[in-house]
Amino acid sequence: MNLARKDIEHIWHPCSQMKDYEELPPIIIDHAQGIYLYDIYGNRYADVVSSWWCNLLGHCNRRINNAVKKQLDQLEHVIFANFSHRPAIELCERLTGILPAGLTKFFFTDNGSSAVEAALKMSFQYHHQTGSPQKTRFMALSDAYHGETVGALSVSGVDLYSQMYKPLLLDIIRVDGPDCYRCRYGKHRESCNAECFLAAEQAFAEHAHEVCAFIAEPLVQAAAGMKMYPPAYLRKLRQACDHYQVHLIADEIATGFGRTGSMFACDQAGISPDMLCLSKGLTGGYMPMALVVTTQTLYDAFYDDYSAGKAFLHSHTYSGNPLACAAANAVLSIMQEEKILEKANENAGYFHRLVHETLSSHPHVGDIRSTGLINAIELVADRSGKKSFSAKQRIGYQIYKKALKKGVLLRPLGDVLYFNPPLVINRGEMDFVVSVCHECLQEVLG
Ligand SMILES: *Cc1c(COP(=O)(O)O)cnc(C)c1O
Repeated sequence: MNLARKDIEHIWHPCSQMKDYEELPPIIIDHAQGIYLYDIYGNRYADVVSSWWCNLLGHCNRRINNAVKKQLDQLEHVIFANFSHRPAIELCERLTGILPAGLTKFFFTDNGSSAVEAALKMSFQYHHQTGSPQKTRFMALSDAYHGETVGALSVSGVDLYSQMYKPLLLDIIRVDGPDCYRCRYGKHRESCNAECFLAAEQAFAEHAHEVCAFIAEPLVQAAAGMKMYPPAYLRKLRQACDHYQVHLIADEIATGFGRTGSMFACDQAGISPDMLCLSKGLTGGYMPMALVVTTQTLYDAFYDDYSAGKAFLHSHTYSGNPLACAAANAVLSIMQEEKILEKANENAGYFHRLVHETLSSHPHVGDIRSTGLINAIELVADRSGKKSFSAKQRIGYQIYKKALKKGVLLRPLGDVLYFNPPLVINRGEMDFVVSVCHECLQEVLG
């Protein structure tokens, strides 16, 4: 029996209708290098989605590989309560130097969703312990994505993932978020003053007294289709949170580590959140690890004699895994020593122009949006009315299947095609993936 058939016999894949695999069997990857994945038949795929946005510096990066191998022979894992190790300490010390100001206390979890869960609990407990026990609810944006576990899914607002589970979810205050392509105020993302923040302002005025935290993905709502909004919105959000004593939780799980052109998306707004969630690029996409980074103020509200019952009694078995920390430290060294972000930013303009020149004239391309090396192309049925295709047509999925045959992993978000490649992608590789995208678009939509 071949491997793909054995896979289907045993494995239930994430975010998949398994029946689709009858027609499109799993691609068994044998090895990888740089932006390329190689399957067991020797076919090559350009990983322009960074394997779900986590691969930051290319696959099998020599320096990260060596760092993990070296760590493996020294210490693979140790309980993180009462025990610690050099790689974790080094990582937090180094991150303190590059994170938005005031973020100095690091809580480890083991994936993005678990970081979001920890941040929500922390915020709730903070208010409980500082005289505001009536603050028990959370605010979040429409089209938000914060993960799949029940708390994280509650604050997420993408119905495709959460609708089914509504009876299980927390009662969230949902705020109509920015929608720059279909702006209700007729403004442009480059020049507006985040007029759409009005909806949030109204929600704060009505609910802030019962709210512990507002969680948001800064600048890019990735899972919603790489929806982008301006820094001005974040600045207003920071001000409102301060005014109403609501924590701001910045979920930079997807945007962190240079994806938006700055080290963190919050940097572009010049704001610091009360809690910052990191994962994905944190380890270069090597290991599942995540962090909630918070302030001294928040930390102090939990600091007391044990008998006061104020500790944050939250834990994950693999907290602070040394192999993951070693990978993360290597990522920071490479980013700095090899000037990764500077080089990516030099190429970003080229990439954006290329996407624009190649794709913007197609009658079904409604919007092209970009920040850093992220370029997203929203396909629409009707360009002037900005009307989407019916989801049942699965336009994005058809293009995805064609692109795979041509060696590009262009897994879309609905009908939004996007590139969110490793930061080390070069211009020749950009030429190749954009031309394949164009060919497939024409084959499916004419
Ligand atoms: C991926 C993602 C998560 C969830 O991370 P997992 O590791 O998949 O649990 C949360 N928030 C954002 C913004 C993400 O992109």
